[in-house]
Formats: sequence, C-alpha cells, structure tokens
Amino acid sequence: MIYCKRCLLSEIDKDKYFENVYEYISLIPTEQKCSEELYRERLELCKNCDSLVNGMCSECGCFVEVRAVRKISRCPSAERRW
Ligand code: SF4
Repeated sequence: MIYCKRCLLSEIDKDKYFENVYEYISLIPTEQKCSEELYRERLELCKNCDSLVNGMCSECGCFVEVRAVRKISRCPSAERRW
C-alpha cells in the first residue's frame, strides 16, 4: 500500500490514518521495541495523565502508542512518568 507522507490531517481519511499509525508501529524492528509488559505499563500511566488528549501527548505532540513502544523513549514531562 502506498501512503502520502506529506498530507495534512485534514486531507487524510481518518480510518486510514489510524491504520497507518498502527502499521508504523508494527514496522518498528523488534529490537527497538520495549517488552509488551512495559508497553502496557507505560500506556496505563499515559491513560491516567492529564497530558493525554485524544491519544496524543500534549507535552510532545506524539501519539503515545507510538512513543511508548520504543525501548529508548521516555515520557517527556518534567515528572518523567515513565
Ligand atoms: S506526559 Fe508522559 S505520561 Fe503523560 S501522556 Fe505524555 S508521555 Fe504519557
């Protein structure tokens, strides 16, 4: 499947966009990903954080499901929640 890398959110089909995000996650090499357990722990912390807005972290603008999956990623808040 071919995706437009330069489309704005307003130009993209919403369902396709989210499919693309999950496909992006699936294409990250396993050695770069944290464990499934750690991923779930991180996302639980995000779910209880006031900075989570519609799946995005308002501190950094990332989709938290993308940010949390990388082993080397850290929570961008001053509190470093994970
Ligand atoms: S500040 Fe940290 S815990 Fe809160 S949503 Fe962002 S990444 Fe998640």
